[in-house]
Order: sequence, then structure tokens, then C-alpha cells
Amino acid sequence: MTHPQEKVVLITGASSGIGEATARLLAGEGAKVVLGARRTDRLEAITSDITEAGGSAAFQALDVTDAQSVKRFVEFAQGEYGRVDVLFNNAGIMPLSPMSALKTDEWNDIIDINVKGVLNGIAAILPVMEAQGSGQIINTASTGAHAVAGTCGVYCASKYAVHAISEGLRQETDRIRVTVISPGVTTTELGHDITDPSAAGLLQELRGASLSPDAVASTVLYAISQPAGVDVNEMIIRTVTSHGHAF
Ligand code: NAD
Repeated sequence: MTHPQEKVVLITGASSGIGEATARLLAGEGAKVVLGARRTDRLEAITSDITEAGGSAAFQALDVTDAQSVKRFVEFAQGEYGRVDVLFNNAGIMPLSPMSALKTDEWNDIIDINVKGVLNGIAAILPVMEAQGSGQIINTASTGAHAVAGTCGVYCASKYAVHAISEGLRQETDRIRVTVISPGVTTTELGHDITDPSAAGLLQELRGASLSPDAVASTVLYAISQPAGVDVNEMIIRTVTSHGHAF
């Protein structure tokens, strides 16, 4: 295992849920974490908690749909810590709805954040990691990158895309590790933006059995802690209950 102490880890969507839990866990393990999201008040509070506990953290406002904002985020991390080792491309949204509701603005937001946001992250970090000769890009897909359910079509499409992008990138590089994290239902703020009542009901049902964001964070720690020559390509994580495995 490589100790994460040596790593500078950039996390998108770090203001809540899986991103926040990962920032706290990795900082506790000694990593230098750089938090990005749009809600800077939250980032400031999380960063203060981490530094007060003796960890190393910095934050910057970030909108993953804006390629320049993502580039500035990477430059900020380089300025703070001199290098970047891991990009956790984690920001995402999930405004589920049936197609017939024609919530086309929400479809566009899903594609812009979940797909183009990940591509913006790759575009900003790849030249830096290529120049360093090393690095790791971890993208958050979902169990929704492996199966589709009604009201989830566009969201699942975005996660199938994240999976395909990750797999394509992995095959093109022998110096940068590429990992896809595919969590099942996790208790976070995701889905707070659902405007369709039937989809909101489905999510509530699914959340009956769900992972904690800390459990997902521990898989990120595992992936980055492997020796340089080992690339954990993908992890699918589901909660297991007395009724079997959840979605
Ligand atoms: P969350 O809503 O708590 O976190 C998502 C984060 O992304 C938030 O910090 C949000 O502010 C940020 N974000 C949204 N749009 C952004 C933008 N344009 N620029 C920068 N940041 C932005 O939910 P979460 O569950 O922690 O989600 C994290 C990732 O995990 C997402 O990609 C999500 O699709 C994925 N995921 C979640 C679940 C689940 O059940 N919660 C399951 C599988 C995959």
C-alpha cells in the first residue's frame, strides 16, 4: 500500500455527500485535499474543520460545467501544493423524471454536470499529469452505469457515459491510473433537486437501504492507496440487507 500522506487530492463536489466524506477521510489519513464546489460557505466550514484537526486542506469555488473554472481549480491546487496526484471527479446531480415530463432543462443540466463536468476535469488535469509522468483520475459513476430503471434514463445515460469515458482513457495511458467508483444508493443530498413526484417517491423507496457516504469514501482511499503499478479499475459498492443487495 502507498500511504496517501504523500498525495495531493483534488475533489469536485466536495461541499456535501461523498465528496465531503472523502475530503474528511483522506485528510485524516494525511493527504493534502483541495476541495471544489459552488457553495464556498460549506467548503470553508469543511476546510476549517480539517485544518483545526491538524489536516491539510484548501478550497476554491468551482463550477464543473465551466472549463475555465476547472482549469483555475487545478492551477490553484498546483499553486498551493506544487503538484497534483489525484483528481476525484465526483460532482454530480440527479433530477430524475419520466421522459414524458419533458424536463429538457434538467436533461441538459445532467449532461452538462455529470458528463461534460467530468470531461472538463480530464481536460484540465491530463496535461499536468502527463507532464508529471504520473497521476490518478477517479470518476464517480454509479450502479446506474450498469442498469437502467424508469425515470432514471437520462441520469443513467450520464453515468454510462462516465463509465465509457473512464474505460477509454484507461486504455490510452500507461502512466495515469484511472478508476471508476460505482456506488449504489447512498444517503446524501443527491436528488434534492427532483421536481417530479413519482421520481421523488422512487428515490425515497430506494433510500430505505443505502450506503453511508463514509463507506464510499473508504473505497476512494483504497483505490489511491495501492502501489503505483496497481490500478483499481472499478469498484461497484452496494449495501447489503436482510433482503439481499440493494440497487
Ligand atoms: P451530493 O448532492 O451530496 O453531492 C454532489 C456534489 O456535487 C455537491 O457538492 C454539489 O454541490 C456538487 N455539484 C453539483 N453541481 C456542481 C457543479 N456544477 N460544479 C461543482 N460542483 C457541483 O450527492 P452525492 O451523492 O455525494 O454525489 C456525488 C456523486 O456520486 C455524484 O456524481 C452522484 O451522481 C454520484 N452517486 C451518488 C449516489 C447516491 O445515491 N447518492 C449513487 C451513485 C452515484
